[in-house]
Amino acid sequence: MTPGVTVIRAKGICDPDTGAMAGNGLAVEEGKIRERGWFEEMISRYPGAELLDYPDEYVLPGLINTHVHLEFTPDTEICRMFCRETKEERLEKAFRHAREMLFSGVTTVRDLGSSMETAEGLRKMGQRSDSGLPGLHLSGMPLTEKEGHLAFLGEAADSREELLLAVKQRKEAGCDCIKIIVSGGQNTPGSLPERDAYDRERIRLVTEAAHREKLPVAAHCLTATAFMNCMEAGVDNIEHCSCFVRKQPENLLARVWDQEKMEKYQGDERLFMIGFSNNYHRLDEVREGRRSPAWQERFWLEQEKREAEIFNRLRRLGLRPVIGTDGGCGQTYFHETWLELALLVERCGLSEQEAIWAATVAGAEALGLSGKAGRLTEGYDADLITVRENPFRQIRALAKVEHVMRAGEVIR
Ligand SMILES: [Zn+2]
Repeated sequence: MTPGVTVIRAKGICDPDTGAMAGNGLAVEEGKIRERGWFEEMISRYPGAELLDYPDEYVLPGLINTHVHLEFTPDTEICRMFCRETKEERLEKAFRHAREMLFSGVTTVRDLGSSMETAEGLRKMGQRSDSGLPGLHLSGMPLTEKEGHLAFLGEAADSREELLLAVKQRKEAGCDCIKIIVSGGQNTPGSLPERDAYDRERIRLVTEAAHREKLPVAAHCLTATAFMNCMEAGVDNIEHCSCFVRKQPENLLARVWDQEKMEKYQGDERLFMIGFSNNYHRLDEVREGRRSPAWQERFWLEQEKREAEIFNRLRRLGLRPVIGTDGGCGQTYFHETWLELALLVERCGLSEQEAIWAATVAGAEALGLSGKAGRLTEGYDADLITVRENPFRQIRALAKVEHVMRAGEVIR
């Protein structure tokens, strides 16, 4: 008898490193992968083990979404909604959103900006073994200037002393990373996305302080200058990379690749995300051909192409994409991480394997979980999902997840 071991039979075990199937069986023990291989050989080694029989399904590592805001509500004015709710309501909502993500196949979630109270509440819930939550990585409140983007979440930090104190407080509060706002944002009244926030010296100060505490740094970065500041200051993950400039006379935000600033970073392998699924749904009717686009919508459609070009230029430099959706902002829903992968394939020309690699192996690296999550080999966390179609052939197979296992526990 081998009590405590669960053996899974599948149609194939997807290997994100090769884009091929690596066997059809997995043995899971105490929340970890004990063995990957061929079910027919494996089963005899574990007599009496529990069997999970998914002979018509493909197994792959659970997805990792590196950028969401769990306490925000999609389809609302975020700041107004935030200020209206009590902290209990926000925590309850964040919990529900995290559950929704896990149910949709995301086994590890990084929240890059919620209030400190919500982060603390989520951390406490996540520590319980029966929490039913995905693995959570939490930045707590982002570091932002007074009246800067997301300053409504709590206490802002301007001076060097305030910034150092903010990093220290987050370390003491158990945060897993530091988020810093280095340009304006679209969801904060009065904030201008095309304007830079902290200068390079202060970004470096934060990055060095965070690294001394062994915390990675992710930066909200919407302009080319902010991108350059982050790269120079040693930021680990660059978020959005929008390259916004304000276009007149329409007063719209346009994405412009700044050759001189961006191409200095040829050969840099840093991790970045764009978030193509953010605001995707505002063009649903146009995309589905139910009506022709208004002038502003034509502009947005054009910008989607520019966004894909920027993504591919960054990749050509050497930067590596991870999956982040900015869930909670705009019309970006928590159960749609799969859409981000689909858009990387359909809009940017990534192979299915490259998109899955970004959502697993690279995502784990961004969160400091290399060797622990993102693959289904011996010793890794038993975080996995199953789908009916081969996701290396059809990325949209991920829209319909059949089963979810998190740390060896069957969630769905
Ligand atoms: Zn965000």
